[in-house]
Amino acid sequence: MEIKGSVVLVTGGGNGIGEQVVKFFAQRGAKVAVVDMVQKNIDRVVADVKAMGGEAIGVQANVTSEAETAKFVKATVEAFGKLNVTVACAGIIKDGTMLTLDKETGKVARKMGLDKWQPVIDVNLTGTFLTLRDSAEAMVNGGWPGLLVTISSVNKAGQVGQLNYSSTKVADALMPKIIIGEFMMRGIKNIRCVGIAPGYTATPMLTGMNQDALKAILADVHLGRLVEPEEIAKLIGHCVENEAINATTLEITGGLCYEHGIAK
Ligand code: NAP
Repeated sequence: MEIKGSVVLVTGGGNGIGEQVVKFFAQRGAKVAVVDMVQKNIDRVVADVKAMGGEAIGVQANVTSEAETAKFVKATVEAFGKLNVTVACAGIIKDGTMLTLDKETGKVARKMGLDKWQPVIDVNLTGTFLTLRDSAEAMVNGGWPGLLVTISSVNKAGQVGQLNYSSTKVADALMPKIIIGEFMMRGIKNIRCVGIAPGYTATPMLTGMNQDALKAILADVHLGRLVEPEEIAKLIGHCVENEAINATTLEITGGLCYEHGIAK
């Protein structure tokens, strides 16, 4: 598959990794659909793409809604006549432990509530499912060659304090294998699926994190710095062009090596 002339849809395209994925593809001659929640972020990214001579549309949508995932896939096909690459980049974190103990009594003082659990499942897991499902439907019915991309995380290995997030990211890592197994069963030959599992990446998602904890994490990264969103975009670009990459999830972490070989 070639990037030039292809149509690329990116959820979470108004910020962070998604924004850089949009710009990477637009700079190389793809037409892009920027899907996100906040209109001003969408407008900014679409304006940037147009300023660099690219073609873009923006669609405000919530990936947790079936009606809205159908809407942004339809809008993309109506605008550009096809869909070739979908990157399901929209994601959130709501960190916390399952139980918090009272320091004096040792009894449970608090439990992680559904207010922290459910939104993460809804966006990172259900949102990815709906985005890929509706994109695949359009690709199959349109007969266009395609690539579906899930965004997992290195924390698919199991990060303490992220029972909700890690649970979604291990599922996002597994989806490519299951989806391609299904495509083989159904005789769908021209659509691939890959997962990308970034390590700690320089985006607004990390600015909300405890900065001391972040410093400690970076001590375990061989590269000695955060991964840049552009580096992730480049890997996704390579996946588009290299059809041997399929039904798997690739890590891009700068060499994250936890002290004891497991996630802390
Ligand atoms: P980010 O900067 O927060 O960007 C995520 C984007 O997704 C935001 O624009 C956000 O909108 C949007 N979004 C959130 N919920 C949505 C929804 N329901 N419908 C549509 N859009 C929604 O995060 P990022 O760091 O670029 O992360 C992108 C992906 O990479 C996520 O899946 C994340 O889990 C994954 N990842 C990130 C890192 C990292 O270190 N940054 C590492 C591994 C994996 P709002 O601004 O309105 O929330």
